[in-house]
Amino acid sequence: MEKKVTSLNIQTKAVHAGDRKKPNGAIPVTTPIYTAASYIYDELETLDKVFGQEIPGDSYARYDNPTNRGLEELLAALESGATALATSSGMTAVQFALTAALLDRRKSIVASTGLYGATIRMLQSIFEPLGVETTFVDICDETAVEKAIAEVKPGAVLLETISNPLVRVAPVDTIAKLANAAGAALVVDNTFATPLMLRPLELGAAFSVHSLTKFLSGHGDVLGGCIIADEANAPILRSLSRTAGPVLGPFESYLSMRGIKTFPLRFERQCHNACQIANWLNNHPGITKVNFPGLPNHPDQAVSDRLFPSGLRGAMISFELKDAGRPEVFRFMDRLKLVVRATSLGDVHTMMLYPAMSSHRDVSPATRRRMGIGDNLVRLSAGIEQVEDVIADLAQALA
Ligand SMILES: *Cc1c(COP(=O)(O)O)cnc(C)c1O
Repeated sequence: MEKKVTSLNIQTKAVHAGDRKKPNGAIPVTTPIYTAASYIYDELETLDKVFGQEIPGDSYARYDNPTNRGLEELLAALESGATALATSSGMTAVQFALTAALLDRRKSIVASTGLYGATIRMLQSIFEPLGVETTFVDICDETAVEKAIAEVKPGAVLLETISNPLVRVAPVDTIAKLANAAGAALVVDNTFATPLMLRPLELGAAFSVHSLTKFLSGHGDVLGGCIIADEANAPILRSLSRTAGPVLGPFESYLSMRGIKTFPLRFERQCHNACQIANWLNNHPGITKVNFPGLPNHPDQAVSDRLFPSGLRGAMISFELKDAGRPEVFRFMDRLKLVVRATSLGDVHTMMLYPAMSSHRDVSPATRRRMGIGDNLVRLSAGIEQVEDVIADLAQALA
């Protein structure tokens, strides 16, 4: 292209020079950020075949993007999927997985009561007005789930492997069998468990979704999500995406892929730190209750042992402050010097959030109480710091 360009006017050079080069045979060691919205070929015949999906190739960024493809291959590999789709947020991933699941199934959902606040809101304020009703059930009560599936005959069952913020563990294996037997697609939000602790498709789920914003990217600098689909559901996911375009931008794809390279190292450390913090909190007189699947009093001990690798019980803890309401919780959190008081989780730094103010703000106080989310409950996401420093910070804030 260079030669032709030199004889052109500067206005024309500005939009053509240096661009549209073919790679000269070298392979970059990491996937570059491809920002191109569309792609060209030497022969229009080739582009025609790419558009027609007769041959693989890139044509338009809503359909395919080399940066996203790198990330998507990585995600599919981590969770034994046939395909993965990187989406603009975790919520887009949840919405889109449900849309794909329900398209050729019955328009009803059986969902866990222990879902992320925005997911509950999505079911009630988007799916319900569109005619998709959700029946909520305690996902840890297998008899209740079986009964709900038999009564509703849902098109999809939606659960979070580890619930937010009470960290209950769903019997994903049993529920996958119940859902599959009833012809329902199981959609698992695996954000808290991550592929290191559980791979939903290996247990029979149709779709696994993540907020990439959390443990997978891990540095608090990306908003993104992903859906991983099994063989049977891969084609519908990809073809819906071509039409609706929920895709992640290439910059965020790059950051996510970069983050995932150290995800297993980070997550193991986060799990070990969480375990030590939970045990310390459990012995503190100012704390009345600690929710953590690694503690002996956790109600889902047997399910955790069955589903998770030994030593990994997640990096999320929630706990109740003794005799505390909103003012006492605010005072405690404002005294923290190291622990970051911010929404989100899964970052390299330890974070704390007040569910009643943030993740479950839009859930009515009555529903919150029914869910077991008291005004004295806080949630902690363990980071990768030296754990003694985190414990010292909690100790001085509780003193
Ligand atoms: C954060 C989160 C989401 C939503 O993800 P965004 O990236 O914020 O859109 C969904 N599910 C769970 C379990 C989450 O923690």
